[in-house]
Amino acid sequence: MNKKRFHWLGLFLLVLVLGACGTGKSKTNTSESTQTPANLRDKPYREEQFLLGTYTRLSVYDEGKEAALAPAFARIKDLGDRITINEPGSEIDQINEKAGIEPVQVSPDIYSLVKTAKEYSVKSEGAFNLAIGAITQLWRIGFDDARKPNQAEIDQALTKIDYNKVQLDDEKQTVFLEEEGMIIDLGAIAKGYIADEVAKVLRQEGVTSGIVDLGGNILVIGHSYRGADQEWNIGIQDPNTARGTTIGTIQEADKTVVTSGIYERFLELDGQKYHHIFDTATGYPVENELASVSVVTDHSIDGDALTTMLFAKGLEEGIRFVEEQTPEGTDAIFITHEGQVYVTSGLQEEFKLDSESGYQMAK
Ligand code: ADP
Ligand code: MG
Repeated sequence: MNKKRFHWLGLFLLVLVLGACGTGKSKTNTSESTQTPANLRDKPYREEQFLLGTYTRLSVYDEGKEAALAPAFARIKDLGDRITINEPGSEIDQINEKAGIEPVQVSPDIYSLVKTAKEYSVKSEGAFNLAIGAITQLWRIGFDDARKPNQAEIDQALTKIDYNKVQLDDEKQTVFLEEEGMIIDLGAIAKGYIADEVAKVLRQEGVTSGIVDLGGNILVIGHSYRGADQEWNIGIQDPNTARGTTIGTIQEADKTVVTSGIYERFLELDGQKYHHIFDTATGYPVENELASVSVVTDHSIDGDALTTMLFAKGLEEGIRFVEEQTPEGTDAIFITHEGQVYVTSGLQEEFKLDSESGYQMAK
């Protein structure tokens, strides 16, 4: 992947964890000021590394647990190297190279990730499509060589994105792309899987209070360092402003918030912006009323798959999907180009829009 994109992306971190500061209006908090428990620190052990095409940050609030950071970063790097299709040699790359030729055996991590991605593809009828690679590699949005392909190229690529032609064999742990030219692209779900795995490592290392921030994927471990009844304040990024301007906050413990927005990566041509989430039916970027979607859920892999899927479904269908087809504890915040904010039922009370944000709650 190219360096330029890395730096640019870093400026557009979607969700900020505000941590201690802010209104302190946690659902369970009644006291004005609370003491940090003895085993937790006010100032975390914190480290930032440029991985997965973004700035990744880990924060650990448990006293004496700084050593948890190294294995956690090692896990990010290892998984990233095995999943990427932007550098040769990854396990996903090997699957793609053998498209139309033969099944490829993969590690348990990769098998489980591909399997979840296929399940989301089937469930969403391609709104989320793990086999979208022939289209994404044609446009290459977010890279220096991004371009608008001609219709013949798009038509050709559209014949190579059938997720039903991704064959999985649970026993042999193999993945087979039935047709030559098929490419799986896990960009819409990989960071979610990795965030969950990193949290596992941190917990194994004894971390009870911490933050995993993979740029657009936030996962909070345990409660806030301010105390057992204190949730984390998580800021929701303004989709029209770069770098850390938030439009409001939610309070959560042991949850993950994933955001996807069209402003994040795009190609601008003749005044038209082409962004990075594609419509499986047309091979063009999805165009609808949405500027960003944030999903709050228990597992980051689900949040990540859902943001992309909901984006592709659009506002009305997206809200319906969350309300009717996701388990309790899964909610979403939709922000439109017009500056309207829609939240699903589980966040109605909890989401606090900043009155100076310039955005409005819908209805
Ligand atoms: P990011 O956090 O990198 O913005 P998203 O979760 O928003 O990632 O997913 C966007 C990425 O998913 C694209 O860069 C591309 O690799 C891939 N993608 C694009 N369209 C689809 C789609 N319809 N289904 C699944 N993956 C997609
Ligand atoms: Mg996603």
